[in-house]
Amino acid sequence: MFEKKDQKQAGKSSELTALSELGEFGLIDRLTKNIQRFHPETLKGVGDDAAVIATGDKVMLLSTDLLVEGIHFDLTYMPLKHLGYKAVVVNISDIAAMNGIPLQMTVSIAVSSRFPVEALDELYSGILTACEKYHVDLVGGDTSSSVKGLLISVTITGTARPEEVIYRSGARSGDLLCVTGDLGSAYMGLLILEREKKVFQVNPAMQPELSGFDYQIGRQLKPEARTDIRNVLMGAGIRPTAMIDISDGLASEILHLCKQSKTGCRLFEEKIPIDPQTRELALEYNIIPTLTALSGGEDYELLFTVSQSDYEKIKDIEGITIIGHMTDNSGEKVMITPDGKQVELTAQGWNAWTSGLADKRTSGPVDKRTSGQAD
Ligand SMILES: [Mg+2]
Repeated sequence: MFEKKDQKQAGKSSELTALSELGEFGLIDRLTKNIQRFHPETLKGVGDDAAVIATGDKVMLLSTDLLVEGIHFDLTYMPLKHLGYKAVVVNISDIAAMNGIPLQMTVSIAVSSRFPVEALDELYSGILTACEKYHVDLVGGDTSSSVKGLLISVTITGTARPEEVIYRSGARSGDLLCVTGDLGSAYMGLLILEREKKVFQVNPAMQPELSGFDYQIGRQLKPEARTDIRNVLMGAGIRPTAMIDISDGLASEILHLCKQSKTGCRLFEEKIPIDPQTRELALEYNIIPTLTALSGGEDYELLFTVSQSDYEKIKDIEGITIIGHMTDNSGEKVMITPDGKQVELTAQGWNAWTSGLADKRTSGPVDKRTSGQAD
């Protein structure tokens, strides 16, 4: 009887579509294509960092994120307090990406019986630390048990005047492509933590070697949202034409801006800001440093475009780098290398590397502590 059922299921499953065939963005497109809107107050739905809802003379920004243990975080090296902090920050970053001010949030958790109450105290102390730092009110949530592991869902609201909201879709040909801060360090931090986890698995008595990598590890475990940029740009009299935050990697976010704005882009490799130590570390791991920025993700910096006429205003602002420009050829999204070659940008970095980065996560320099060469 069971056999029959299995056979039936097996036959049926061969006609079904694997999630991996669609990928995350394909899945979102598919699930959202039949959405209808019933309220004129819904100014922007799916397709940006946050939804935009009319509420009198201001708009409400609304965004949500789900973090799943084993997918988005690894508690072997992610302290629960940091996890709580990061869960809040990644949501605030989406409000910053709309040029809004974060206001309230709800936090829901599902938690397995393996977690003692004190562990959740730690998680919430991180959540509340972030709330205090960014002036966000925690106004509700839900708790549930889970069969396995920890899930955290955060929903956040923000506010802005309607004319202040910056969408992904506003870039025009010729606009300058700009980025805040530097990129790739959060990814290198992850690689260091993964490396030390492997060492620990081989020999639990071994202390992790994390000193000297404070910047990279800090960027991974305790990112900050660039809520300061709103005032920096306003103070300089600059209004970006499009904006997005960098959660999935520079290449992926540039492609989002191009798609929503119906433009192409030319990105200049040598302009991409990468911390010098991160660059060195990447080389030690046999990774082209540019790839940590293009495909690493979790930097939570802001990527935005400004009109060419703002060049004089933006060129000397500390911590903002012009890395390229948008073009009218929507079929051309390219990076120009220092020797003048053009490479096509893809969500994973660029074409020749589509399978490269994920594999690199487990490679890296030969480590005597895990390679069997220990003396
Ligand atoms: Mg975002």
